[in-house]
Amino acid sequence: MPLARPIVLGNWKMNGLKADGLALVGRLAARAAHPTGTLGVFPPATLLGPVAQRLSANRILVGGQDCHHAESGAFTGSISAAMLADAGAKAVIVGHSERRHGLGEDDALIRAKAGAALAQRLLVVLCIGETEAEYLAGERDAVLTRQLDGSLPEGATPENLVVAYEPVWAIGTGRTPSLDEIAATHARLRGLMAERVADGAAVALLYGGSVKADNAADIMALDAVDGALVGGASLDADGFWSIYTAGGGA
Ligand code: PEP
Repeated sequence: MPLARPIVLGNWKMNGLKADGLALVGRLAARAAHPTGTLGVFPPATLLGPVAQRLSANRILVGGQDCHHAESGAFTGSISAAMLADAGAKAVIVGHSERRHGLGEDDALIRAKAGAALAQRLLVVLCIGETEAEYLAGERDAVLTRQLDGSLPEGATPENLVVAYEPVWAIGTGRTPSLDEIAATHARLRGLMAERVADGAAVALLYGGSVKADNAADIMALDAVDGALVGGASLDADGFWSIYTAGGGA
């Protein structure tokens, strides 16, 4: 079954110790025992177990922020998709720009990670997005097509894949593309997905990059936008909840 809309996912990045992470999800759970849409949190790996346990009676999705492409082995410091699932994760982000650009991950590696996640029946949240230089050079569309072609895993379906368009220059900067630009980019992505994945027009498309309570309603009202991937603003339960309700969630 396709994911219920709106889909609002919170990427905590490298933030949160046990006490504050559990307090945050406790406040969210008090608001959203059974969300009508899809509400998800992506805590650091150290908190996956406790957060998943805390939310076991709720329908809030819990996911990891990355996984290794191998099932197991000599990869010091890495975490496999099976380990995420074992800790209670139901989803994983792959291809976030902080890994593509900060850690040099390329499309082939991201595709392998996504494939490893699908093999563990995790929902894959595949991030794509252009840098500011690429945006200014008019290369956005070419970059997004290249990233999709290089990193979409085999076996993707609307049930197991979400694509998040996150312009790198909008992440954590307070800047966003105009609503017209987001609408046009998402409409184009919808077409690309339809050409590449069976029933691909039904794959959820999220916008990410400086989504806050005050711009969430306008962004999520756009036709081809099914929800948001939220970084900084997901660390505050009330603010994150406001973003979700601004997108029509209850
Ligand atoms: C992100 O890191 O995926 C993100 C969208 O961050 P922010 O909302 O802080 O821009």
